[in-house]
Amino acid sequence: MIPDRTLTDTAPATPTPTPTPPGTLLSRALRLRCVACGQEKPFTGMFRMEERCGSCGYRYEREPGYFMGSIYFNYMTTAAILIAGIFLLEDGVGLETRTVTIVLIAFAATFPLWFFRRARNLWIAFDHLISPPSSEDYGPR
Ligand SMILES: [Zn+2]
Repeated sequence: MIPDRTLTDTAPATPTPTPTPPGTLLSRALRLRCVACGQEKPFTGMFRMEERCGSCGYRYEREPGYFMGSIYFNYMTTAAILIAGIFLLEDGVGLETRTVTIVLIAFAATFPLWFFRRARNLWIAFDHLISPPSSEDYGPR
């Protein structure tokens, strides 16, 4: 005798969204892993990002324009380091203003490019904290 199949037998495996501790979210974001599961790498290049996680199916861009927040993260981090750099290099190390300016311009031109992926992942982690994902975030759009 063949048992009757139930709805759960044929339904695709959808991860149950559960709150993730902030430390875990931060760790996954900085290690450039999927913030939702920590398994996959969302980025396939310096600036190219997969649409969804290959492991858990989480859709990274929750809505159009979603990653605007990551631009603020990148800008704020760069500005904070620049301000700290001025005081550290001029007052702490004692470099001339001209040298400090050259160093910090070079930093300001390169750091945001390197930080781009981390800023996006940090934005996703921050968004997980304030708006935890639902099962809709794992399904097709
Ligand atoms: Zn994932």
